[in-house]
Amino acid sequence: EEQVTLQQLAAKMSLKATDVLMKLLSMGMTGVNINSTLDADTAKILASEFGWTVEDVAVSEEQSLTAATEVSGESEEGSEARPAIVTVMGHVDHGKTSLLDRIRKASVADGEAGGITQHIGAYRVETPRGTVAFLDTPGHEAFTAMRARGASVTDIVILVVAADDGVMPQTREAISHAQAGKVPIVVAVNKIDKPAADAEKIMRDLSSLGLQPEEWGGETQFVHVSAKTGQGIDRLLESVQLVAEIQELKANPKKRASGTVIEALLDRGRGPVARIMVQDGTLRTGDVLLAGSAWGKVRALTDEMGRSVAEAGPSTPVEVLGLNEVPSAGDPVHSVKDGKTAEEIAETRRKKAKTLIPQDSRVSLEALTRNLQ
Ligand code: GDP
Ligand code: MG
Repeated sequence: EEQVTLQQLAAKMSLKATDVLMKLLSMGMTGVNINSTLDADTAKILASEFGWTVEDVAVSEEQSLTAATEVSGESEEGSEARPAIVTVMGHVDHGKTSLLDRIRKASVADGEAGGITQHIGAYRVETPRGTVAFLDTPGHEAFTAMRARGASVTDIVILVVAADDGVMPQTREAISHAQAGKVPIVVAVNKIDKPAADAEKIMRDLSSLGLQPEEWGGETQFVHVSAKTGQGIDRLLESVQLVAEIQELKANPKKRASGTVIEALLDRGRGPVARIMVQDGTLRTGDVLLAGSAWGKVRALTDEMGRSVAEAGPSTPVEVLGLNEVPSAGDPVHSVKDGKTAEEIAETRRKKAKTLIPQDSRVSLEALTRNLQ
């Protein structure tokens, strides 16, 4: 009773099942057909793409989870401002990786003398206006996979557009992802150092896609940057902070931790390794953690500098050891009261995951398109 097939969902919205399926595939979901069973999170996201709202159908699991994550005496009073979590998106070769590298180097330069950041999927940057957290897995797959799983980790999207190129398919895709997730966009007009750079053209093109520059009376900040020379990076971070301040992002560090898996892998020596963005509460070593259908007691926490830490508060990325299996990117993470509850919820989720995708009915987008013609 907590699941629905794609066909049933389409019927409730008075839509053709194939249209709903096309949407689901365009969101990056694979191996689904109109008879596939959707979990509550997927159904919710999918319905919202068509302007519908799905009531929380997975009540039983959510209730046990709520009970398991409660802390006595907890209240909203502990809410504090938290750093923004930012994702960089844009067309291939427009400079996403270069920009992230440049931002990270700029932050490492002061303080962490010669410090080598290790890759944990995200990192924090200190700016004059405060801390910003960056997801450093640029690209649409991660974002889409997370959204398809109901995770919303990003507060702000930096849309990178190469000034010597222009609006490309993945630029449009990034815009529609951000808009569907109601995530504000800051435009980084990159490669401004190049002689062929034409920032005006980028502004015109993006205006016609609904991103009006502030200087033209719109609401979107456009910052001219060069990931190569470093020009404009400070201004870009400032613009991100301005947008973050408007959002008034809050979290309660006194709560049990909750967040999202950014990436995970199996390390031969250390076992399952999960890189997590803590979004609310504080995660500590010794906590019992539930991540999708994985669970375990947190054995060690490591920050993006490779240092062992005892705890991680809101908007902090950490690497976690101690889970019994490798979770997936986008899996929700919760610190829960005890191992027994964690194991029970993990088991329920594992069973559910099995019913989500019938193995024998995989369909490729190509095959589907052929069938529709
Ligand atoms: P991604 O595919 O979006 O991650 O793009 P990359 O960061 O890999 O950059 C693609 C190419 O553009 C690389 O050869 C970079 O050196 C180059 N590039 C990136 N940013 C700039 C820039 O600001 N100026 C110049 N001239 N080249 C850049
Ligand atoms: Mg790249």
